[in-house]
Amino acid sequence: MDSKKIITPAHYDAFTCAAGDCPDTCCKDWDIVVDGETLEFYEDLGGDVMRHIVTDDDGDVIIKFEGGVCPFLSEDRLCAIQKKHGAQRLCATCRAFPRVTQDYTEFEERLLTLACPEAARLIVVGRDKFSFIDNSSVERSDNGYDRDYMNFLLHARFLTAEKLRSDKPFTEKMRDVLSLSEHVQQLIDDERFTEPPEEYEPLGFSGGEEARARVFELHKGLDVMDKEWLMTAVSCKNEKLPANLDEELSSLALYYVARYYLTAISSYDIITTIKRAWCAAVVCAALTARENAENDPLARALIYQKYSKEIEHSDENLDLMTDAFLGEGFDSRVLL
Ligand code: SF4
Repeated sequence: MDSKKIITPAHYDAFTCAAGDCPDTCCKDWDIVVDGETLEFYEDLGGDVMRHIVTDDDGDVIIKFEGGVCPFLSEDRLCAIQKKHGAQRLCATCRAFPRVTQDYTEFEERLLTLACPEAARLIVVGRDKFSFIDNSSVERSDNGYDRDYMNFLLHARFLTAEKLRSDKPFTEKMRDVLSLSEHVQQLIDDERFTEPPEEYEPLGFSGGEEARARVFELHKGLDVMDKEWLMTAVSCKNEKLPANLDEELSSLALYYVARYYLTAISSYDIITTIKRAWCAAVVCAALTARENAENDPLARALIYQKYSKEIEHSDENLDLMTDAFLGEGFDSRVLL
């Protein structure tokens, strides 16, 4: 069998955990699932460790947090397990974070999630253009998916990324992306994977302020860990959007395209990814205006990171957003 192609963007290789200097802590507020090998190690350790390990309602073995904080986090904000036994003894979830791997058999993409402030700084504030998204294709027919369909998606993803990498203002780029994406989605729905996705009519848009307000209304009903943050976020709907965020918002949208576009190989849905990217950009830009963070890169990194942690990384929110996107209020033509 041919060897797998491993794709790692520059930001992946550049990442270093800020550890004790991190303005957040990756494990805060999240359920950390403990893998079998780590569980055995914890059992062997004896002492107090197993007191913090429980089985949740889904049957997963997790670390039981106290006040939203991991019990293994020491006062210097470093992990006590890592300090005492080394990073190799962290559970698989902690060891990997914020790295995510997307395996497509013939190739594998390794990315960082924005739920880490350092990753958000590198990717969005650092205006990453995601140059690894190119016009490549797969060759093998034994990848476990339809080769023509994957090549169609890879090409459509490249076209989408190119639009986001253009010099146009962000809103104009998103109009171009939505026009393309509605066409691509139609071709997917019709299983017309051999047709070139670049031949389409641009949509007429009529959204404006009303559409922006709907984005905030949608967020009001989402499931978050930090309710106060959500109240602040939805109260930003009338903020005047900062003029100089175009490149960062493009990188934010590129992140969604890089991370989620190819999941359509099984979901047959690319339009949700694009609409999620638009929602993230609208809310993060409004929060930037509210917090006067236009000239504060660290504050902006934390805005992108918090949005990712609260909204992006929740299956329930994904379902709620997908349902909303199917409604008339989120039709692409009235979204912008
Ligand atoms: S959130 Fe990121 S930078 Fe902070 S401790 Fe976790 S991995 Fe390190």
